[in-house]
Amino acid sequence: MAAPLVIKVKPQDNVAIAVHDLAKGVEVLPGVVTNEPIPQAHKTALTDIAEGEAIVRYGVVLGYAKKDIKKGDWINEHMVKLPKSPSLDDMPYGKNIVPMEELPEPPVKTWMGYRNKEGYAGTKNMLGIMTSVQCVAGVARVAVERIRRELLPKYPNVDDVVAITHPYGCGVAINATMAYIPIRSLQNILRHPNFGGEIMVLGLGCEKLTLDKLLPPEDITPENCLIIQDCHGHDEMMQKILDMAETKLKRLNERKREELPLSDLLIGMQCGGSDAFSGLTANPSAGYAADMLVRGGGTVMFSEVTEVRDGVHLIAERCVNAEVRDRLAAEMKWYDDYLEAGGVDRDANPAPGNKKGGLANIVEKAMGSIAKSGTAPIVEVIGAGERPTKHGMIYDATPASDIVCGPSQIAAGIGLQVFMTGRGTPYGLEVAPVIKVCSRNEMKENWFDMIDISAGGVATGDQTIEEVGTEIFNFIIDVASGRKKPYSDQYGFHNDMCIFNPAPIT
Ligand code: CA
Repeated sequence: MAAPLVIKVKPQDNVAIAVHDLAKGVEVLPGVVTNEPIPQAHKTALTDIAEGEAIVRYGVVLGYAKKDIKKGDWINEHMVKLPKSPSLDDMPYGKNIVPMEELPEPPVKTWMGYRNKEGYAGTKNMLGIMTSVQCVAGVARVAVERIRRELLPKYPNVDDVVAITHPYGCGVAINATMAYIPIRSLQNILRHPNFGGEIMVLGLGCEKLTLDKLLPPEDITPENCLIIQDCHGHDEMMQKILDMAETKLKRLNERKREELPLSDLLIGMQCGGSDAFSGLTANPSAGYAADMLVRGGGTVMFSEVTEVRDGVHLIAERCVNAEVRDRLAAEMKWYDDYLEAGGVDRDANPAPGNKKGGLANIVEKAMGSIAKSGTAPIVEVIGAGERPTKHGMIYDATPASDIVCGPSQIAAGIGLQVFMTGRGTPYGLEVAPVIKVCSRNEMKENWFDMIDISAGGVATGDQTIEEVGTEIFNFIIDVASGRKKPYSDQYGFHNDMCIFNPAPIT
């Protein structure tokens, strides 16, 4: 069978996606001939669509035609009128609960991780040094460089030392209603599973984010915390930081990887720089891997509020009870109001690259984005910077921004993130590995040594979602177990910890 020229997802769809750049006059499906060139990943009309009629992909109304569209025309983002987003009131829940035994069986049931006294296990063994305020960020970075150079070689079981610097801590309305989000995020990042329960905080001394806001009383000790305004000059300050670090490195060096069940593994899913293939190839393949992990007892989170908002009813149907559905609706409502206060709506989300990649609007982007959550029941919904309490598929309501979603999922405790991309991004996180999965083979050919896995074979018919999904699952296990390093870690491409702060800056 010849490779398809276009991909139609559902029988009721009246558009299909070009697998490659298509010329004018190509018969893409019986009786459908292109009237003009169609760029790769963009939509062509499979029927005449009159002005005001629905444009349907994934069996879902992406929007309404702004003018008459002829069969074989190119449909770009300027031709689609955005529909209303689904109502959050009384969304049915539990209508689409896939039984556990129908999820795909994982090829392995264990991995090699660092067990922790409480919570999920680590995928790495690291010392994390957090600042309580941005003023100390430079000190933390210089100290980390010295610790890496002077101390780390003595402790071979410790993978790395990281400075967790961030823009929060002072010059902020620390008692504002929403300040709990950045504060909770920082509290939880300090307790990330890769840090093995060791806490190290560098404060300035006059900031608003005082140690008691960051730590419980029993953890505020000279062994864990240093206020640099209390130090007598540069050399004493640096020596104190190095001494603190060494005490902790000695303990971390005792940690060893051990064989653990998948129930000790928590991972996150994200996408960025998506294109119209993301929802056909990379995201459903990642969703298949997610289903395998959940079947094996593992925990998977997906996020990005604006990118699921238009498919929220599909997520609600997978919620296991009314409480989970209600939390989902509440998180979405909060974000609707947050966007409205800024004078925008969810369609402010798609980037120029998304549109160049054929995504007409946020509805189309959302339908692709949700595919990375697989089909497993949703057992819990949490908010930005919060930690999950359940095992299974979890929705973590974070912003969709790559660089904000990442730290938010780190706060939740992910051991690694699987990141799907259509256009390509070097994005990475220092605290946990990020695995890149691209949606098109052309992307992988261009960034052959920066993208870990290509799901492009699903579009060309050379691979199935099950095959790529299993490849992603195996790669997750290898990276979590320290046997493989994704490219972002090989090169040290790590983004800043941009924690979500919806509260006012003063
Ligand atoms: Ca994103």
